[in-house]
Amino acid sequence: MTAAVRTTCPYCGVGCGVVASRDEAGHWQVRGDEQHPANFGRLCSKGAALAETLVPEGRLLFPEIDGRRAGWGEAVATVAERLKATIDVHGAGSVAFYVSGQLLTEDYYVANKLMKGFIGSSNIDTNSRLCMASTVAGHKRAFGSDTVPGLYVDLELADLVVLVGSNLAWCHPVLFQRLRAAQEKRGTRVVVIDPRRTDSCDIADLHLALQPGGDVALFNGLLLHLAEAGQLAPDFIRNKTRGFEEALTAARTGEAEAGALAQKLGLAEADLQKFFNLFAQTERVVTVFSQGVNQSDTGTDKVNAIINCHLATGRIGREGMGPFSVTGQPNAMGGREVGGLANQLAAHMGFSAAERERVARFWAVPAVAGGEGLKAVEMFEAVADGRIKAIWIMATNPAVSLPQADAVRAALEACPLVILSDCIGTTDTGRYAHIRLPATGWGEKDGTVTNSERTISRQRAFLPALGEARPDWWIISRVAAAMGHGAAFAYQGPADIFREHAALSAFENDGTRDFDIGAAADLDDAAYDKAQPFRWPWVAGSAPAGRLFGGGRFFTADGRANFVATISRPPRSRVSQEFSLLLNTGRYRDQWHTMTRTGLAARLTAHRSEPLLEINPADAGARGLADGCLAEVENADGRYIARVRVTAAQQAGQIFLPMHWSGAFAARAVAGALIPPVVDPVSGQPALKLAAVEVKPLAAAWHGVLISAAPVDVTELAYWARRRARGGYLAELAGLAAEEAEELITRLDAALEGERLDYRDPARGTVRHAWFAGGRLVAALFVSPQPLRVDRSWLEALAAEEALDGAARASLLAGRAGAGRPATGRIVCSCFQVGFDSIVTAIRTGRLTSPAEIGAALKAGTNCGSCIPELKEILAHEHAASLAGTAGPRTVEPADNAA
Ligand code: SF4
Repeated sequence: MTAAVRTTCPYCGVGCGVVASRDEAGHWQVRGDEQHPANFGRLCSKGAALAETLVPEGRLLFPEIDGRRAGWGEAVATVAERLKATIDVHGAGSVAFYVSGQLLTEDYYVANKLMKGFIGSSNIDTNSRLCMASTVAGHKRAFGSDTVPGLYVDLELADLVVLVGSNLAWCHPVLFQRLRAAQEKRGTRVVVIDPRRTDSCDIADLHLALQPGGDVALFNGLLLHLAEAGQLAPDFIRNKTRGFEEALTAARTGEAEAGALAQKLGLAEADLQKFFNLFAQTERVVTVFSQGVNQSDTGTDKVNAIINCHLATGRIGREGMGPFSVTGQPNAMGGREVGGLANQLAAHMGFSAAERERVARFWAVPAVAGGEGLKAVEMFEAVADGRIKAIWIMATNPAVSLPQADAVRAALEACPLVILSDCIGTTDTGRYAHIRLPATGWGEKDGTVTNSERTISRQRAFLPALGEARPDWWIISRVAAAMGHGAAFAYQGPADIFREHAALSAFENDGTRDFDIGAAADLDDAAYDKAQPFRWPWVAGSAPAGRLFGGGRFFTADGRANFVATISRPPRSRVSQEFSLLLNTGRYRDQWHTMTRTGLAARLTAHRSEPLLEINPADAGARGLADGCLAEVENADGRYIARVRVTAAQQAGQIFLPMHWSGAFAARAVAGALIPPVVDPVSGQPALKLAAVEVKPLAAAWHGVLISAAPVDVTELAYWARRRARGGYLAELAGLAAEEAEELITRLDAALEGERLDYRDPARGTVRHAWFAGGRLVAALFVSPQPLRVDRSWLEALAAEEALDGAARASLLAGRAGAGRPATGRIVCSCFQVGFDSIVTAIRTGRLTSPAEIGAALKAGTNCGSCIPELKEILAHEHAASLAGTAGPRTVEPADNAA
């Protein structure tokens, strides 16, 4: 057994500690770190599958210049030369860096230093702009600093937890596990505020399905209620804050009366009143907010409307209470700390003359950049209109994730110089890069990250770099040196950079700035290597911090927190006759961002085989959309094709699409392509969760499902969505012309040698072909005029077998699982690969009534627990069907099988 290495999960902002070790057979295992304060050994499905993503597939292995392989020396020299040439001709403002919350803090620090200190521009922005820029702006308006006051343990100490625009169950699953456990122990009340009914509602006492964009009105209404009910904290307001009366007056300009407010928000008045009373009467309240708040054109006001209610009640900085932003990315917080956002300088300092002069002295440069740079959406608009002539994109995929993604692609296509440094070489963005630089991936990288509760943890390497990959800090430093700044970038390793970052945080600080980790500035290399997670601030001579603001002192000039007068405004994206539905976008339980890593693990891809369009039954009926059919979603900006899932969890007039799929995984499923470039006026964060769209059925002539041992090119078809599967790859297909299916069969015949089995039913238009090599199934294609309801898990199981016997072959041609190989159905529990059909069968035969009983019978839900809400949903349906005497096959999702 190789020595275990403690590191951190590279996915969400919970920042769980993990332990990587090798078993006797040499395979890597990843488990939760029992000692890490974020998770105490817990993991979610994504973290638990990390070891399966340690594969070379898709990796960028060596530098490339204009499509040809190059050595590092030439690549670094070329990047430096072309950047310098651009700056010489067009000025420093003509170059930009677009960086990422996937970078480690040390990488981020060096990129920011090069751009703002040495190139002399602030055109560096991070994809965290898409994630939590509105929270940063809201924090700074209220507290004078970008400070998260609370700790994860507050979720366990609260009596009421309000989740606003946060599907914690899927997006921050370990925090959801901690909250669920606390609820079971102490009866924590939970309120979910979200237009959709999500899995987080599983533990909710109350779900307020408010209209999109209604959050400011809701929290203004709460502020008024607190005032009218005499539930304010007058001493705290008087002594520790300013601006309360103005905030109250602004709140009154909306619907002051609860009944009118409820109507405006689409809520039952009794539910609204219940929430107001719960909040007013519960001292220990934590309000968790996330992308549903941030990704809005009123995101900053939403943040401040929430904070206002906590300031008004003095519920901040104490046990079990406070506003709590949970970040999406693993190191969004680290990026905020170093100045990875275009409107921050470094170490939580801005662009005042004194701050610029201080940072310039620290970096030993004559001057740093003179002011704020272009924020993400503006940056790519500047690429499009030619103001930016060279852009270096690091560890992110803007061709998928930004608003108007098709326009972003066109801009990159026309840009004279696109440099990409990334561990993955197959991203949509990579296609537009003139120079591609291979960066190290998770397991190879070494540095630090900061999670949502300000805990800085080491991310340690336990694998050698693949191919010629190099750490991002190394690449940037080498380019900086080649541009003539070698002395300032002569780092020998990440510890050097971390010490400098820590020293800057303490430089002339004296308690005036929240971010101070001066105590870490003297860590030697060995101490840095061994560093345990610690929470900032960690001031020299003191212990690391706990929760902040408990003493009621904030980082404003006079130490008082600011109430911000927020006025409810309608969202700028509105429905019209042409585009009559509001689109909401978001994450799936088992996927991360654009699936470049989670898409590598077959057990993660099975939960959602393809992108689903979730739509209310009334809206589906009005458009002729049946559950399981394919639909086109479109507006003036773009088009998206997805499988329809009809669900009452979606309100009428609204639809939901996932944000994960890119051109690497599906024909047309880039959510960003449908999003207009509408941003919050304060933070510049785009409103990724709101666009007006229309939906219509896709006129498919045929549907297919293809499982194959090797990838098959199906990109010429109108619809395809492919994924890793046990035994190979699985693709969902559809074509607009019947002959396309025959052409595909011909192509497969030409590519696959060996035995072929056929089944055709001309009357039904059904075709099933299976290709074998040495007894092993190497491909199977099922075609039908209707969407196929074959069990994909069963197909995967057949493809994973060494050889198929006669019975298995017969069942394959019959198109349904046979005796000995029962259908398991779509995977519900990723950890133990337990399928929907298996669960339903166990419930019926064993008369199971709870997730615990299902767990005892099948293990489902007994590891990370992420599937428990779904288990409850299946139980509820089975119970209702049994009462109604209608128990029978049921489709939870269209890609379900049921055969
Ligand atoms: Fe990783 Fe899951 Fe923990 Fe997030 S909750 S850090 S994805 S294990």
